[in-house]
Amino acid sequence: MPRAATIASNVEQIRERIARAAARADRRPEEVVLVAAAKTVSAEAIRAAYDAGVRAFGENRVQEWEEKQPQLTDLKASWHLIGHLQGNKARRAARLFDWIDSVDSAALALKLDDAAGETNEWLAVLIEVQLDPAEKKSGVAQADLPALAEAIGQMPHLELRGLMAIPPFCDDPRDSRPHFRRLRRLRDDLEKQFDRSLPELSMGMSHDFEIAIEEGATQVRLGTAIFGERAKE
Ligand SMILES: *Cc1c(COP(=O)(O)O)cnc(C)c1O
Repeated sequence: MPRAATIASNVEQIRERIARAAARADRRPEEVVLVAAAKTVSAEAIRAAYDAGVRAFGENRVQEWEEKQPQLTDLKASWHLIGHLQGNKARRAARLFDWIDSVDSAALALKLDDAAGETNEWLAVLIEVQLDPAEKKSGVAQADLPALAEAIGQMPHLELRGLMAIPPFCDDPRDSRPHFRRLRRLRDDLEKQFDRSLPELSMGMSHDFEIAIEEGATQVRLGTAIFGERAKE
């Protein structure tokens, strides 16, 4: 794992870059939450990022977080599931995470709502949108987004906060801009259609988060920029 000092200096540099990107868009840096994407990263490295001030973390796999979580119960942070979630793991995910950022079907949402209801809790959720139908990735198709948002809106234990997307990878991060803009427009349309606020836009990763912030991201999910290159998965 990278040394704690390296993680701390990475976080500090990222904070400066977030502040500059926010300023370019006439936004305040506090409007952007840094979510540390911690897949493959050790509990020690997560703790180092926490000590450097990071208060939100994302994991891709339920089981991986189940293994690390017992070592980190003293951390006061919010824990996001950012990877694809299978329905048969919804109950465990609802117990382990504060946010599920990758809800992409009503069936999955129902399972999460049931699970959260069993413990009388509620879960913050984002809908993951598939921005490029050519990429066979997770996320709800844009055409099905309004129906899914409406369905989740009826579920008493889910609190729909906004949208998330992983746009197709572009070598030049500026090419991601139209994708980020599209996600923001989809969010704006939903807000109008349902007359409710959906404040969160989770978009932007290590190579393109500054563009995402210029286009309205409120959560950026950064792994490599904080923890260094991952071993090939
Ligand atoms: C790994 C991952 C990230 C972070 O990717 P980096 O390029 O390392 O910053 C963000 N979001 C999701 C869903 C991921 O799986």
